[in-house]
Amino acid sequence: MKIGIPRAMNYYNYHPFWHGFFTYLGIEPVLSSKTTKKTVSLGSELVVPETCLPVKIFMGHVLDLIDNKKIDVIFVPSHQSIAPKIYNCSKIRGLPDLVRNVVKKNFLLIEPTLDKSEKSQGLYEYLYESVAPFGITDKKLIKKASKAGWELQNRFNEMMNSGVMLDEALEYAIKGHPQKNNAKNEKKYPVNVAVLSHGYNLYDDKVSMKIFKKLEKLGVKSYIAENLTMDEMKKGFMVLNTHLYWANEYEMTGAAGCYLVDNKTDGIITLTSFGCGPDSIMIERITRFAKRHNKPLLNLTVDEHTGEAGFITRLEAFTDMLLRRKRQKVIKSLSKQFAETGEIKEEDLIKQL
Ligand code: SF4
Repeated sequence: MKIGIPRAMNYYNYHPFWHGFFTYLGIEPVLSSKTTKKTVSLGSELVVPETCLPVKIFMGHVLDLIDNKKIDVIFVPSHQSIAPKIYNCSKIRGLPDLVRNVVKKNFLLIEPTLDKSEKSQGLYEYLYESVAPFGITDKKLIKKASKAGWELQNRFNEMMNSGVMLDEALEYAIKGHPQKNNAKNEKKYPVNVAVLSHGYNLYDDKVSMKIFKKLEKLGVKSYIAENLTMDEMKKGFMVLNTHLYWANEYEMTGAAGCYLVDNKTDGIITLTSFGCGPDSIMIERITRFAKRHNKPLLNLTVDEHTGEAGFITRLEAFTDMLLRRKRQKVIKSLSKQFAETGEIKEEDLIKQL
């Protein structure tokens, strides 16, 4: 038994769980290939132009599974609500309906619904729905499979939290060899920024244009939402004086609140998709609070036409500005010391440099 999993949207957050869950039940998960220009253009042809880039890409991945991987059972869950009164955006909620209506191919859609705002709906109901089409109905077995899935997911989350990058964290979580930290965490960088977006924007190289590598080349260390604990994220919400309505705004809003008031990051970069309703509201709020906390913020909006040259220029200009700001702060503090004591201590100079 095989199940096709599009390498898009929720894949970037929950793939370890689904891998562990399906594998335990003897179902082989088959992933679509990484996003290419062709994935984007084929997916874009299926939906109206106003649709956000991640959903266009999702359609391209469904086509890849059917046409290139020859998989005719595709997993597209509908995540309506992840907690009482906390909902996903309409495109995520209606993803299976969208796929069913625009992908005119012969395939079986497995479309369980997760709706935690419905009293009768729990995680296990959702999981039963996910495997019932395979004839698997043994509830005890499904619970054991769920445990196997969470083991992988927890390993993955721990690695992401410690700074391991997504591809490695996925690989090691599935292999069962967790790694902690990487050399990057030990290295000192002249500039530190928080890069905030949804997993499906940040970790899809076609969408983010390999933003982490580009920043690394510019001498910038990136911090992400996954480096924070849930408690830190909750505190972040308080900074922005807001409450959660959109489920997948958690990583952006909570993390933004945290990084806005910390001392380790010099600025914030947000990456959003053109046409995303929830993000446009959140970005407006984050921008207002960034001004209040005197933290520089760069918002990059992408769609399928975004060019790489302009993207790099904006990153370079932002990094330059952050460096200049930092330098000015150092000069100011050293001048103050000189004015007060008539000397600058060597150790202070070295520390500041
Ligand atoms: S949250 Fe925004 S980017 Fe994500 S699916 Fe919804 S509209 Fe698209």
